[in-house]
This record gives sequence, structure tokens and C-alpha cells, in this order.
Amino acid sequence: MISEPASPGRTAGDPVRVLWMTSGLGCDGDSIALTAATNPSLEDLLRGCLPGMPPVILYNPVLAYENGEEFMEAWHAAAEGRLHPFILVVEGSVPNEEINRDGHWAGFGVDSAGQPILTTTWIDRLAARAAAVMAIGTCAAYGGVPAMRNNPTGAMGLRDYLGWNWHSRLGIPVINLPGCPVQPDNITDTLLCLVLRIALIGPSLELDEQGRPRRIFGRTVHESCDRAGMAEHGQFSDAPGDGRCLVKLGCSGLVVKCNVTARGWVNGIGGCPNVGGICMACTMPGFPDKYMPFVEPDVRARLYPHTARLAHGPLVRYLRHRRIRRKFDVEPEWRRRGNELTTGYRHP
Ligand code: SF4
Ligand code: SF4
Repeated sequence: MISEPASPGRTAGDPVRVLWMTSGLGCDGDSIALTAATNPSLEDLLRGCLPGMPPVILYNPVLAYENGEEFMEAWHAAAEGRLHPFILVVEGSVPNEEINRDGHWAGFGVDSAGQPILTTTWIDRLAARAAAVMAIGTCAAYGGVPAMRNNPTGAMGLRDYLGWNWHSRLGIPVINLPGCPVQPDNITDTLLCLVLRIALIGPSLELDEQGRPRRIFGRTVHESCDRAGMAEHGQFSDAPGDGRCLVKLGCSGLVVKCNVTARGWVNGIGGCPNVGGICMACTMPGFPDKYMPFVEPDVRARLYPHTARLAHGPLVRYLRHRRIRRKFDVEPEWRRRGNELTTGYRHP
């Protein structure tokens, strides 16, 4: 039985609850990605991995042991103001229920009459009471795949639904954490920052103009890609399977903000182009429409190999390697036999 005080104040030792809705239009992939986090891991977060951090309790229908009304109890408590403080995490895009005709697009739990409670109703009830709200995954952040051209459900991102100027009761805008799915450590890292912020022992998250944490999304895929050195030397793959730059195969990493080439995917390992997959721009607000078809390079990518070859390319590579061979890949000249000391050392 949940019996939290209605007081908005939080005292030290109170847990921070994370209410994670998966009832948007999505695939639950971010909930699955969450289980792969290692730095910090989900277990670290729930156990309280940092001294002084409050305990964290997660309510997620994909990962919960409880079922039915037993599971829904926390959600009703939060909607009635009996659960505080909590972070609302929304996974999946938000359908437009104003165009649902006789049915509904998405719901979660049932009311006293046995009728489905709409996902949008939960968002309306909970967002107003949440300490912070996070849109997890590109679908929740910007609409993603369900919101692509022809979009029959009128799907949109959470900020499109709540308003781009919406702020939580702690004055925090909706935090967009895009990805399809989100890189696992980006989830736990951001949740940890929010928990510390709510406990007043951490700084606020700086967001960029698209609502993303700037620290995570400040650089392009290309800037941290393991293959960027190949691109700089004008080395481009014509078919999958070698270690050269993938831009001619459709990689969009040059213009995409995402940190997986720096952070890896699980435990620092992987990260799309690092391991041979083109970047499809899954973190971007215009995904997928602006990047299709994924396997064909656009004009920018078609030009890049030529400009890269002109600016750097085989000639610069040849000159650089010649200089490496002659100057940097050799021992200092004084390391040889002889009756003369040529090291520069002077006997006192
Ligand atoms: S594979 Fe993609 S991200 Fe990596 S260097 Fe080439 S264009 Fe940049
Ligand atoms: S590298 Fe590209 S495809 Fe891979 S997660 Fe980042 S944005 Fe998505």
C-alpha cells in the first residue's frame, strides 16, 4: 500500500520514484535498452551508487514483477498527489486522441467502469505533479517512426503535446533523450543527474535547443567515430565489411548529434559506425523522413569523399606516412655504438 504524504517537500532519505510509461506509440525498446546500462547500471541506480544519493524506485510495466491493479497502484497514487517526488518518463510517441473517431489510439490501465485510461490522460494527470519529465527515445522526443509521413494517428513528441515552453513543478523543461533505442548509459546517466538534482545535491542539466542534454548530444557521430581517421585519409568503403569510412554506403554521421561512437553501446563496446553499421540518424528530430532511403548517400555524402580526398586524401596520406617513416618511427640518432658521446650530456 502506498501512503506518501501529500506535502510537496522532500526530506532526506525519501526515495525518488521513476514512473516509466511505455504506453505511447513505440516498441518498448528503450525499456529493454535500460537493462543493458553499465555506467551506471540500473542496479547501481536502484541501490544508490553514490554516497548521499536518495534511493530510487522504478515502476516500469516491462520490467515489473507486479501485474494488474497491484502494479497500477503507484500510478493512481501519483495522479492523486500521494506519491512525491517522482520523475515521469514517457516512452513512445503521443497519439492525437482528438482524431481517434470512436476508439482510442493508446491506453494504460482501466478506470472504475472498466474503460481504458488513455495515455494522454495519464500524461495530463502526471506531468503536472512530476518533479521532472523525460521523453525517452526518438518517438517520445520528436514523434519518430509512428510520426513519419502519412502518420494516421497524428503521432507527435511529448513536447509537441505539452508545449515546447512547458516546465515541471521544479522548473525543468521536458528532457528529450532521443535514440532508437537510446544508448543505455545515456538513460541511467540522465536519470542519475535528475535524481541528484531533485535531492538538491546535483547541478541542473543544460539542454540544447532541441531539449537534449548538451553534454551528451554536443558532438556529431563523425567527430568521435573510430573511422574518422580513414575519412581524413580519403579511405572510403564501397561495400560493407572493411574498416574504412562508410559515407558512400549512406552513413549520416557527419551531420548527426549522437555520442555512441564515443560511449560505445554496451560497457563501452560497439557504436554503429565503429562496428560497421551506417549511422541512420536515429537520434535526430527529423528521423526517419529526412534521412531516407538510409542506404543511399545523399548529396552531402556523395560530395564528401571528393572534398576529403582533395583536402587530405592519398597525397597527404603519402606525405604524412613518409614523414612518419623518416622522422617519428625511428629511434634518436645517439643510440649507437662509438667512442664519442653524442647525447648532449655534459660531464660535471
Ligand atoms: S563512418 Fe560515418 S561517422 Fe564514421 S567517419 Fe565515416 S561518415 Fe563519419
Ligand atoms: S550512431 Fe546514428 S544510428 Fe547509431 S545510435 Fe547514433 S544516431 Fe542512431
